[in-house]
Amino acid sequence: MQKKSERQIIGFFFVLLFMGVMFVQLSGHGKSISTISSATSTKKEQAPSLRNSVKPKSPTIVNSYFFTVELDVATASISGVLVVNYTNTENVPLSQLVFHVHPKAFVSYGGDIVINTLQVEGDQLNSSSHQITDTILEINLNATLLPLKSVIITIDFTTTIPQLEDRFGYILSPYEAYYLTNWYPVLAVYDQNGWDRSPYSFMGESFYYDMSSYEMILTVPKTFQVACSLPVKTQVVGVKKTIIYEKVTIRDLAFAASPDFAKSSTTWNGTTITSYYFDDEELEYRGKLATEMGRQALEIYSSAFGPYIWETLAIVTFPGGGGMEYPGLVLIAHNTYYNGSNFLYWEEVIVHEIAHQYFPFILGTNSYLEPFIDEPFAVWTSIYFLEAQNRTDDAKEKTAYRYKVYEAYSLDKGDFKLGSSMAYWTSFGDSLPYFYTVYDKGFVVLKMLENYLGTETFLACLQVIYQTFAGSNLFFKDFTSIFSSVSHQNLTWFFDQWYFKTGLPKLSLTASSQDGLTITIKVTNAEKDWYQLPLPLEIITPFEKLVTTVWINGSETTLSFTLTNKTDSATVYLARNMLLLRTFYQTPLQTEVVFLTPETPLPLISILIGGLIVLLFRKWRRPSLRNFKRRS
Ligand SMILES: [Zn+2]
Repeated sequence: MQKKSERQIIGFFFVLLFMGVMFVQLSGHGKSISTISSATSTKKEQAPSLRNSVKPKSPTIVNSYFFTVELDVATASISGVLVVNYTNTENVPLSQLVFHVHPKAFVSYGGDIVINTLQVEGDQLNSSSHQITDTILEINLNATLLPLKSVIITIDFTTTIPQLEDRFGYILSPYEAYYLTNWYPVLAVYDQNGWDRSPYSFMGESFYYDMSSYEMILTVPKTFQVACSLPVKTQVVGVKKTIIYEKVTIRDLAFAASPDFAKSSTTWNGTTITSYYFDDEELEYRGKLATEMGRQALEIYSSAFGPYIWETLAIVTFPGGGGMEYPGLVLIAHNTYYNGSNFLYWEEVIVHEIAHQYFPFILGTNSYLEPFIDEPFAVWTSIYFLEAQNRTDDAKEKTAYRYKVYEAYSLDKGDFKLGSSMAYWTSFGDSLPYFYTVYDKGFVVLKMLENYLGTETFLACLQVIYQTFAGSNLFFKDFTSIFSSVSHQNLTWFFDQWYFKTGLPKLSLTASSQDGLTITIKVTNAEKDWYQLPLPLEIITPFEKLVTTVWINGSETTLSFTLTNKTDSATVYLARNMLLLRTFYQTPLQTEVVFLTPETPLPLISILIGGLIVLLFRKWRRPSLRNFKRRS
C-alpha cells in the first residue's frame, strides 16, 4: 500500500504526462493512442486494425483495458488505475461481472491484490456491491447489462509482489528483477457454462481470457529496462521512467522490469524479437542467441500453422525453473543461460514457450478445464521445430525421451485419463501425474495422431483450426471436429480411447501356416479394455511383400492372408516403428511364421504301411499252418 501523499504526487505527475501524450498526439507524431479520457467516454471499443486475421469473440467488439500504474520497488508493489470497458457480447442480460484476481493465490507467499476503490460508470461502488472469494472478484451491477450494451469499470488497485523465484515475484540478489504476471484484475470469460471461475493454477496455466484491447502507461525507476507484452510507443525519462505502450489486441499483459537486464534484438517479418538477459559476460552468448531462436521459431511456426500476429516478442530470463509463456512474452530459466548448461534443453524451453503463442494465446483455450489443447501441442511443436530443421536425430531423441518417461511412469503408477481437468490433477497433491500425463502422454497421443493421418494432413488440421479460431476461443470438441472434417475420417474412436479412457495396449503376435500359402496371424492384447487400433502389418517372404493396415479389436484378433507364391519362410511385422504408449513395438511385434507339418498325407501312408504288414503276415502264416496240418 502506498501512502496517500505519494499517490497525490503520482496523480499530479500523470496529469502532466497525460497533457504530454495529448501534445504528442495533436502534433501528429506516432500513431494515435487511446487516452484515459477516450477510455472513459467510449462505450464500444472497436477492434483496432490488425496486420493479421485474428478473430476476436465478436468480429467488431473487444473489451478494453487501460492501465496507468507505477512499479514501486521500495514496497515491492504495483498500483494505479485500471479502466475496463466491457461489452456484453452474450445473448443474455448480465447482472454481475466476474474478474480473476490471481495475486490472491500468493497471499501465503507474501503476494496480494487489494481493490482500493471500484467505480461502475463513474459511480463509486459500496463494499457490499463487490466481493472477493479466493481468486474471484464479483461485481454486482445496479442495472442488468443488456446484450451489446457496455459498461466502464474503474479499478484503483495495489498488487503486492511476493519475493519468490517464480513467474510472479521479485528477486534482489544476485540480480534485481520484478516479474509481473497474472498481476491485475482480468475479466473472466463468459461462455456456455456462464462465468468461468477457474482458480489460479500453480502447476498449470491460468490464461482463459478473451482477446481484448490493451494499453498501458507504466512508471518504473529510471534505470530499469522493461520487457513487456506490448510494444513501446514512447517513453519519458525524468526522475522516473514512464513508458507509454501501444494499443494492442492481445489476451493478457505481462512484463518484467530490472536494472540488470541487457538486451539484444532482431526483426523478422515485421516482428521485433528482443532477448532480455542478465548483464553478465558468461550469459551474453546465449542471451544474444535467444533472439535467433525466437526468429527461427516464428518462421517455422508461421509457416506451419499461421502467422504470428504481434509486432513484438520478448524472450526474458527469470529465476524460476523451465519456462513460462505469456502472450508476446516468454520467461526462460536463468540457469539455462550459462554456457556449460545443456544447450538442447535451453533451446527446447525457448521454442516450447514460443509455441504457446499459438495455444493458448492466438487460439484461446480453457487450459484449466481442457489442458490437453495446450501443453501437448507445445511439446509436439518443440519437436516439430527440430524436424523442420532436418535435425532428425535430435527429434528422435526428444520423441523417445517423452515416450520412455511416460512408459516408465505408467508402468509404475498406472495410466491416467488425458481428458482430465486441472481440478483432477491438483487433487493428487503432487505434480507428477499432471506432468507425465498431460505433457508426455499428451505428446505421444498427438504423435500417434500425426503418424496415423500423416504429417501433411495433421498440419492441414492445425491450419484450419488457426483459420477458424485465431483470436477467439476453442474447445476440445472444436479441435476434434476439425481433425475429423479435414482428414475426412471419423476420429471418434481415436479420441475416445486415448483421451477419455485409460489403459495401455499390450500386444503380442503369433503367425503360422499349414500350406505355405495361407498365413494365420493372431494378435493378443493383454489389456482387455483396449479395443481398437489400426496398425500397419507386413508379411515378407523370399518372393513377395504384403503390406496392409489391420484393425486390432478387443483382447484377441485373428487374421488370415493368402500369398501369391508358396513359401516355406516368412516374417510378420505389426506396428513397425509405431508409438503405442507401451513400447515402440519394433522388436516384440515381429515374428517368424511357423510352418506346421501337413496332417492330411499321414493317414494314407499309415493305411498303406498297415495294409502291407497285414498282407505279409498272412503270407507268412499260411504255409506254417499247412505244415502243421500235414504233420498232424
Ligand atoms: Zn508449456
